[in-house]
Amino acid sequence: MKKHNFSAGPSILAPVVIENTAAAILDLNGSGLSVMEVSHRGKDFMAVMDETVTLFKQVLNVPQEYEVLFLGGGASMQFCMVPFNLLNKKAAYLETGSWAKKAIKEAGFFGKVDIVASSKDKNFNYIPRDYTIPSDADYFHITTNNTIFGTQITEDIESPVPLVADMSSDIFSRPMDVSKYGIIYGGAQKNLGPAGVTFVVIRPDILGKVERQIPSMLDYRVHLENGSMFNTPPVVPIFAVRETLKWLKDLGGIEKIGEINLKKAGMLYDAIDNSEIFTGTAQKESRSLMNVCFVMKDRYKDMEGEFISFAQERGMVGIKGHRSVGGFRASIYNAMPVESIRALIDVMKEFEELKAV
Ligand SMILES: *Cc1c(COP(=O)(O)O)cnc(C)c1O
Repeated sequence: MKKHNFSAGPSILAPVVIENTAAAILDLNGSGLSVMEVSHRGKDFMAVMDETVTLFKQVLNVPQEYEVLFLGGGASMQFCMVPFNLLNKKAAYLETGSWAKKAIKEAGFFGKVDIVASSKDKNFNYIPRDYTIPSDADYFHITTNNTIFGTQITEDIESPVPLVADMSSDIFSRPMDVSKYGIIYGGAQKNLGPAGVTFVVIRPDILGKVERQIPSMLDYRVHLENGSMFNTPPVVPIFAVRETLKWLKDLGGIEKIGEINLKKAGMLYDAIDNSEIFTGTAQKESRSLMNVCFVMKDRYKDMEGEFISFAQERGMVGIKGHRSVGGFRASIYNAMPVESIRALIDVMKEFEELKAV
């Protein structure tokens, strides 16, 4: 049976990405060697690294003055690397979910943290809009897509101080204005590739303003000086990121994927909104195009477990909601085809016909 992979992360990749990476694991460019066993400084891998950076900048329209790094440590490492490099006295954070809270906790080790707004009061089911970014903060940190709660900031915020964004789960999902940001970072494993590599887009002029000493591995300047090769980079994940970017470019680029994502999410939210038994958890104007969270209406609540099994038996993978929201979460990242959305909607309708009273 065909599997439809709605996992939140690691998550679905385009078939061609998996095929090409598998082929390079066996033999990189006919070299007789695996991508896993060549030197990261050799010409074959250097070409991969260069092309990955070039494609990243091209597809996302990254302005000239920005650099792109590929590091280890995940987005979680960036939670501490950002304040280590940028926080002198005070940083401002928007608290929109579990990942934002984790970022806030790390920043607290380095200075004062001003939480300018929070949606904690409603279990993070919306994006706060009414707040002022303090102009004396060293930076303002946001989480553009709240993977667990299914909310998203889809506009590029104007900030009087460097804007730092965790875009782990919506990078490359829509056209955006990179020039509004000081740093954009994220783990690759939601929309860009497999786990193991972290992307960091950075405007280098925001660095060098803190007084503390920074250990080399945590200092962005060290990684910039060494072109992401201060230490051995995660070569296989980077290879797969390159394949993903090639796939995305061939598909029509960021404008095209933006349209496709709007359509896919629209189909699924429509199905939820028109359902007798399902209901969405995020407020409509804050809904994520990447992670669609929904539950069963109160009178059907005890059927949630049954629906998970029902959907699993029909090939749906990874739709159980995160424990902090419950119910269901369909993660519909870039690589998720429209047919899989249709398949999920069909399964929801089939269940509803059996159960709705
Ligand atoms: C998955 C995720 C993270 C954690 O990423 P790691 O690479 O596992 O550290 C952080 N932020 C967001 C928004 C995420 O979706």
